[in-house]
Amino acid sequence: MIPFLDLKKINQQHAEELKNACSRVIDSGWYIMGNELKEFEANFVNYTGSRYCLGVANGLDALLLVLRAWKELGKLNAGDEVIVPSNTYIASILAISENDLVPVLVEPDTNTFNLTADSIKKAITPRTRAILPVHLYGQICPMDEIMALANDANLLVLEDCAQSHGATLSGKQAGSWGHAGAFSFYPGKNLGALGDAGAVVTDDADLYSAISALRNYGSHEKYKNIYQGVNSRLDEIQAAMLSVKLNHLDNETEIRRRIANTYLKKINNPHIILPQVIDDKSHVWHLFVVKTKVRKELQSYLDENGIQTLIHYPIPPHKQKAYADWNELSYPISERLHQEVISLPIGSHLTDADIDKIINTINAFLYN
Ligand SMILES: *Cc1c(COP(=O)(O)O)cnc(C)c1O
Repeated sequence: MIPFLDLKKINQQHAEELKNACSRVIDSGWYIMGNELKEFEANFVNYTGSRYCLGVANGLDALLLVLRAWKELGKLNAGDEVIVPSNTYIASILAISENDLVPVLVEPDTNTFNLTADSIKKAITPRTRAILPVHLYGQICPMDEIMALANDANLLVLEDCAQSHGATLSGKQAGSWGHAGAFSFYPGKNLGALGDAGAVVTDDADLYSAISALRNYGSHEKYKNIYQGVNSRLDEIQAAMLSVKLNHLDNETEIRRRIANTYLKKINNPHIILPQVIDDKSHVWHLFVVKTKVRKELQSYLDENGIQTLIHYPIPPHKQKAYADWNELSYPISERLHQEVISLPIGSHLTDADIDKIINTINAFLYN
């Protein structure tokens, strides 16, 4: 079976470096909020080009804490509307509703799977205060247009970069366009820790300061609490793992781009619609997602032929039980995408033979 993802193989490429880093932390005797965190934050600032980075416990917390901090800073209030794509992973929406803000679902462009400035513009009301664009599957949204719109309408922008580490538009990185960017380093992400981890990047000193307290019980100074904060820290072991993995991220991205370009060039089947890309640097191919009207048949055919695929995602957020109030609403683009998308294996765990087999098998798929 060609696996969709093989984390063991991916991390074994760096086993020696990871084990050395792990030993360094064990021997240091310091496991939370120490030098490894500071170093990773500095490395990630350097990588993304933002002024500040704050390690947190996971990607959901990165999103949550930015919105929470904006509330503490008086920039957002309960009941404010936040625009978010209707086809995103549920975490983007949970971060909004958990803060007593109102998610306003906006349909994506069916070719790029991402929000456009036009679709956002139509959804703006007098209660809109923020936009939460998601660089879904690894492709950066049209952030130049989205920021122009946000500046005109005086809206905050929080980029969900959980799938887009290193994607750029006009040379500027995902996460550095908006007022803040939230990253996940869940093990299966392009930059993956060996456990849960996340980070916020921003140029805003006030936001940085608020989140640095919020992630640590609302405290800058031990036993002095200025906010009713949470415990959401990125521990030293994960920070050390991430500093190692960050050094290899661009190489992983190049491998993914090479595979994606091969798929784009060679996959040719009337039942399959390939993804649309702005340009080579805009996409880091967290997922290679194609559309098909015969998904069930294609997925079982690939499975029978030894190729594992996944669906991102099978149920749209507005059809989830968790958001029962939305279940009767209609988001036709999102609903169709959730029925048609299927993700092919991509990543440095694939051999050239795997890639050839995937292409040939897909091209031989017949349905009538
Ligand atoms: C993975 C992911 C998250 C959440 O990250 P965790 O680290 O799993 O909490 C948020 N948004 C998107 C788009 C994701 O893919």
